[in-house]
Amino acid sequence: MAGVEETEQVKGATREDTQAADREPETLYGISGSPGIVVGRAVVLRPRSDDLVRYRLEKEAIQAEQERFQEAVDQAEQELKDLRSKFEGDLSDTLTIMDSHIRMLRDRMILDQTANLIEQKQINAEWALSRALYLVKKKFDHIADEYIRDRFADVEYVVNLLQEQLSEHGQQFPTGFAEPVIVVSEDFTPADTVRMQSEKVLGFLTEKGGTTSHTAIVARSLGLPAVVGVENITERCRTGDMIILDGYDGRVCLSPTMDQQKLYQEYDRQHRAFSEELSWYIHLASETLDGLRVRLSANIEIPNEIEGVTYYGADGIGLFRSEFGYFQQKHLPDEETLFSVYQDLVIALDPQPVTIRTLDVGGDKLAIQLPGNKFKALHERNPALGLRSIRLSLREKTLFVTQLRALLRASAFGRLRILLPLISLLSELKQVQEIIGQVMMDLTDEGVPFDPDIEIGIMVEVPSAVTMADVLAAEVDFFSIGTNDLIQYSLAIDRGNEYVAKMYDPLHPAVLRMISRTVEAGHAQGIEVALCGEMAGDVFMAPVLLGLGLDELSMRPSAIPHVKRLLRHSTSRRLTDLAKQILKCGDGMETRALLDCYLASNAGEWRERS
Ligand code: PEP
Ligand code: MG
Repeated sequence: MAGVEETEQVKGATREDTQAADREPETLYGISGSPGIVVGRAVVLRPRSDDLVRYRLEKEAIQAEQERFQEAVDQAEQELKDLRSKFEGDLSDTLTIMDSHIRMLRDRMILDQTANLIEQKQINAEWALSRALYLVKKKFDHIADEYIRDRFADVEYVVNLLQEQLSEHGQQFPTGFAEPVIVVSEDFTPADTVRMQSEKVLGFLTEKGGTTSHTAIVARSLGLPAVVGVENITERCRTGDMIILDGYDGRVCLSPTMDQQKLYQEYDRQHRAFSEELSWYIHLASETLDGLRVRLSANIEIPNEIEGVTYYGADGIGLFRSEFGYFQQKHLPDEETLFSVYQDLVIALDPQPVTIRTLDVGGDKLAIQLPGNKFKALHERNPALGLRSIRLSLREKTLFVTQLRALLRASAFGRLRILLPLISLLSELKQVQEIIGQVMMDLTDEGVPFDPDIEIGIMVEVPSAVTMADVLAAEVDFFSIGTNDLIQYSLAIDRGNEYVAKMYDPLHPAVLRMISRTVEAGHAQGIEVALCGEMAGDVFMAPVLLGLGLDELSMRPSAIPHVKRLLRHSTSRRLTDLAKQILKCGDGMETRALLDCYLASNAGEWRERS
């Protein structure tokens, strides 16, 4: 039972402090999820042992926490009632017990006590509930009647139900931390990660995930340091532990010494100083020494990131992952809501292009996390190969049409480009074209303005699209290569699986040849080819991408000055020669060696520091 004994420690000096003090320093290794170094106390969410989630709240967060608790009570009651309705026949004893549990859920002893503790002690609902249980237990211990005393087991049962509701069906990501924390969890949903932005979160640590898992991608976009794929971190780290999170090298120091803390702070200072030096490039053109222009645009997930897009001097938005606007909501967003988001983006960046990708759920952005009961039943055995992205949009036409109407309407206000994810067949594209044609006709009939020449492109992110790139290129206005998925589908490596993360190799010659083939097919049809996978923002890999002739690289905004510096120190000839050589390589090691050599002679001292 989580909590009864633990609540004893709530009263005095916190258990967290004692734990942190008597722990030996320990270093654990994971995968760098997002750069940066932070030092702070851990909050472990959804621990897998009997440990409780516990943290202090800000005053303003109290009411929301009490409401969350009430929601958990309502849900637990509904669940018990549903269960009760399934019992048939002569089971009067069982039914009586269930009725008493339902009544107990409404017992003021637990309810009021918990709500009061949330407020008085400014603690989260799980912790308050466990403290309330402890107080109830003390009362039961004094009851002489053995029968009544034994009823405490029922109280415990009901409290357990509530704890389950709070951790599983309640709010997934806690809000209102009273002080900045490093959040540790087995994994986070994309919506959790986005929520961290508005919370006092210094950085985060997960057990699952790889460099291109969406948890890591969002962390980078939000500028929150993260380490992912740390084995058993939720077991090894306890709430209250002091940690250093080194997102540059994918390292975590548990209970670090003062010397270690100073060392890491210095290391971070140097990295930051270098990034500031790079800000000099923000206002310069993205071109090589001999004048070849390559658009360096931004990948964003939420509209707030627009500030970063303009600050880092992006040449527009190369990828807006529109699905994040669906995950954060209680209900699926309606046309007006979507329209206003897209319109704001387009107006803010006009005349630069804003490329908005239609809903791309699936893989590690599970469709069951979408609002609404409809998707709750979508449990797929292999979501990465399932009803993902455009496949879901084509099945859920109303959902798709709502988004397309919003996109087309927003196109009247600037340069909006529509990007279709995971196209793997020509027939899929044809179906989408038909739907877009129909939506255009409807808008025309309604007298609603839109851009009739709106550019429509596809993500090239499955091997079949690469193979058919010549055919697909004839049908669209641009390509955007999604290497995050292209790598996973061509090398058969789950991009979010920490066990095979080392084999996920963007520099595998097979991947580079696919990029090259797509660029050639696109250019042969006279369309532009962009690349928006994570490798676009990696200065170590960018030279080969530039040499392969991509017209645009789209990346997290803060990476733009790094890549621009590289571009401005290169000539198109040197880049093309490098790519030609690399295309002959037999494996990723050879590719790396050539890139190392190139950077050593073209980027010098800077290469060492980036
Ligand atoms: C990609 O697959 O490379 C991509 C940019 O899309 P996402 O990471 O959202 O799947
Ligand atoms: Mg993708």
